[in-house]
Amino acid sequence: MLRIGIDLGGTKTEGIVMDGAGKILLRERQLTPQADGYQAILNTIRNLVLELEKKSGASCRVGVGTPGALSTRTGRLKNSNTVCLNGQPIRQDLEELLSRPVRCANDANCFALSEALDGAGRNGVLVFGVIMGTGVGGGIVLNGKLHEGHQHIAGEWGHNVLEPNGPLCYCGKKGCVETFLSGPGLAREWRAQKGAAALEAKDIVARAEQGDPKAEAVMQRYLDRFGHALSVVINILDPDVVVLGGGLSNIARLYTDGRDHVARYVFNDELRTQILPHVHGDSSGVRGAAQLWNPAE
Ligand SMILES: [Zn+2]
Repeated sequence: MLRIGIDLGGTKTEGIVMDGAGKILLRERQLTPQADGYQAILNTIRNLVLELEKKSGASCRVGVGTPGALSTRTGRLKNSNTVCLNGQPIRQDLEELLSRPVRCANDANCFALSEALDGAGRNGVLVFGVIMGTGVGGGIVLNGKLHEGHQHIAGEWGHNVLEPNGPLCYCGKKGCVETFLSGPGLAREWRAQKGAAALEAKDIVARAEQGDPKAEAVMQRYLDRFGHALSVVINILDPDVVVLGGGLSNIARLYTDGRDHVARYVFNDELRTQILPHVHGDSSGVRGAAQLWNPAE
């Protein structure tokens, strides 16, 4: 059966139709009407699904990747940075609107699933998928199955406290991994230097590559923190593959110098875990949403 994946993003909502072999047959995009509120977002998803079904000529399974996660206690969405979604029973509402079962998962979990099934982690048994972008998230896939956890927070290493006196995080704690390893976190670290003009993450990386000593010092701290933060996850999960996604995953040194820092911190005399860049790029979230359904279901 064909599967529709929907990736509900802060600015755009994307939908695909995927066949049993994992091939994308159709793709559609619409702006996420965040300012118009929850009902408008539901309607956007419904319209995308109906349009994709009309074009494919088949009725499809539907999976949705959301910012935030569904509470296992209430069935309502929590921890979403698209704030009008918080507290809403989005899966239940979509099931009513579309008259069929709908599966939902956190967008970082969709990324992890996609990369584990047919991406960079396809040969892995236990895959930890990491998003490092505006925020920092993660997801765990074991034997091709998503592990969401008892409270649907499995893999959320972005809010492990790395340095208790660090910057305040939006979650209310201080010094979360996200406050250091996200794009805004890297930019903040740069700005904290005396006389530094505001730069974006990618420009700081470029300056370090050109030999700017200040930028290099910021990058050294970034790579060290990456190693420290990821070693904590590896000591618990011991995954065979870690796949990195999100804008910051394009930093080539994460896979060399960053990896050396992980090895230095991890509780073993060697690091055999593979740390790999994503294969599916921006498509991994929407692919993983479709892959919440097996082709045989
Ligand atoms: Zn936090």
